[in-house]
Amino acid sequence: MSRWDDARREVVQVSQEMWRRGLVSGSAGNASRRLEPLDGRPLLAITPNRKDYQRLTLEQVQVVDFEGGPVEGELVPSVETMLHVAVYRARPDVAGVIHTHSTYASVLAVAGLELPPILDEMVLATGGPVAVAEYAFSGTEELAERAVRALGERNAVLLRQHGVLGAGASLREALAVCELVERAAQVYVLARLLGSAPSLPAEVIEIEQQLFRMLHGLPPRD
Ligand SMILES: [Zn+2]
Repeated sequence: MSRWDDARREVVQVSQEMWRRGLVSGSAGNASRRLEPLDGRPLLAITPNRKDYQRLTLEQVQVVDFEGGPVEGELVPSVETMLHVAVYRARPDVAGVIHTHSTYASVLAVAGLELPPILDEMVLATGGPVAVAEYAFSGTEELAERAVRALGERNAVLLRQHGVLGAGASLREALAVCELVERAAQVYVLARLLGSAPSLPAEVIEIEQQLFRMLHGLPPRD
């Protein structure tokens, strides 16, 4: 038993859900949860590097600090640990982060196409369009910096030639964001193929964005 068992269990459950819903295959992608700081030291629980989600156990979820230093667990944490940390540092409102390689989000990430606000529920979940972060190699500081910059105060960002990152006030919210982005990306790609994929009306986007900011405790924009 450890003080982090509940949080580590949640990481296992949500990661397996992410795998079951087809957002990742094998050991690709990663999920983390912010933990209460320990003696002022900020911490997170994150999936390990290269372990199948299907057989993931609580003990395999790693507890690390914001420098990537091990606190609990015997395995190597996800190669994208510093990407997750960068989001937690930049966004005090975020407590859960998920990164997936889901197909249609990856199609947009490869094409370098931003996902515009095309569905009502999308803006309420993501906070607006899902921008594409400039390319950087997996696991690098550049990737973390570029992802955080493109994410801004919204809850999802596409990683160029790579995949998608979703954030939320909880890990379950981050999962819902990733799932919704994948569905919206699929709708967008197919609608473009039919010749028309317009954004929602500007005044609707404005209202929904203000609502998103209110729901997430962010100050209203002028
Ligand atoms: Zn990845």
